[in-house]
Amino acid sequence: MNKQEVINLDNQNYLQVFSRNQIVLDHGEGPYVYDIEGKKYIDFLAGIAVNVLGHNHDKLVEAISSQAKKLIHCSNLYYTEPQACLAATLTKLSGLDRAFVGNSGAEANEGALKLARKYGKTIADNKVEVIAANNSFHGRTLTTLTATGQPKYQKGYEPLPGGFKHIPFNDIKALEEAISDRTCAVFLEPIQGEGGVNMPDENYLKEVRALCDKYQALLILDEIQTGMGRTGTMFAFEQYGIVPDVVTLAKGLAGGVPIGAFIASQKVADAFSFGDHGSTFGGNPLACSAANAVFKAIEEENLVDNARQMGDYLNAKLNELKEKYPNIITEVRGKGLLAAAELTCAGSGIVTKCLEKGAIINCTAVNKLRFVPPLNINKNHIDEVIDILDDVLASEEI
Ligand SMILES: *Cc1c(COP(=O)(O)O)cnc(C)c1O
Repeated sequence: MNKQEVINLDNQNYLQVFSRNQIVLDHGEGPYVYDIEGKKYIDFLAGIAVNVLGHNHDKLVEAISSQAKKLIHCSNLYYTEPQACLAATLTKLSGLDRAFVGNSGAEANEGALKLARKYGKTIADNKVEVIAANNSFHGRTLTTLTATGQPKYQKGYEPLPGGFKHIPFNDIKALEEAISDRTCAVFLEPIQGEGGVNMPDENYLKEVRALCDKYQALLILDEIQTGMGRTGTMFAFEQYGIVPDVVTLAKGLAGGVPIGAFIASQKVADAFSFGDHGSTFGGNPLACSAANAVFKAIEEENLVDNARQMGDYLNAKLNELKEKYPNIITEVRGKGLLAAAELTCAGSGIVTKCLEKGAIINCTAVNKLRFVPPLNINKNHIDEVIDILDDVLASEEI
């Protein structure tokens, strides 16, 4: 099929919920993707922070292919080695005790929230409230869009599940006023990704942790975007001197194969008994072997260190653009390879122009350009994107 045939066929048949860029992607190699007409793009969106090893990574491809020949799926009525190994890796790296594997980020959060409700009820029947933050993003199921502190994702889906409260992110006073003995969990992204790469102050999460402890509320961290080494440590929480009670992962966890996971301390996990949660596909050997390969590659290729070093370089380069175009870029922020440049204008035009010139970036929260490239990029790849962005910004200025 040619490009237009694919676009027409999709437009006629796919549910119309995505306003797509007008290209048809065909294959990828490292940090590059190629469209169906053979045009090459440097990919600094990486499937929205998913392709942490880039495209066509040999170890990931090999793990998936060899597992596919053995066993793709068998249900959770049986043990498999890939699932047991993945659970052991997740508990070891997080410092927590019990992992559950599902199929997406929303599902991981849904499981974490179900666990928090059960746990709250072991303390008091009315300990059911969840406090989340404005401008957060936690997924698209009814409960996770209710936790998501952005009305645009909730509009039209009322009645929403009850028991959720929202407070401004990075405002400890607001949490102090909202939290009570009825709170079963405080649910936060350590750095808000989709909301615009919003950073917490140095001590915010420590103060949140202390308030949670005071009220016997769980601290659930959504590291679906910040996890897997992206911010320069395996989990972002490591850089804020705290440990959550529950943490969720998805996006980069299996390098592009659908997966999600939540990991809890023993004390919290004890609130679940046999039959209290489950999944048909979740934790299948194919997805788990992909995740195991991702963890192995991250370790063997020092990708957490690379994310930190390349993140510093990307930040410096974006700041140079900010100096050069002060009328367009007002702020550069982020940690590791989760970075944003805040603009004085909407970002969609710039994203489209970058795409035409062969760079895939993304705009979130209207005016924040977001950069979430694979973790194995080098300085040349960053220079390539920065040069294209420089050209585009120069044309915007006139
Ligand atoms: C992407 C994302 C989700 C939702 O993940 P899905 O796999 O799309 O359900 C939840 N939380 C955060 C922080 C995310 O970035």
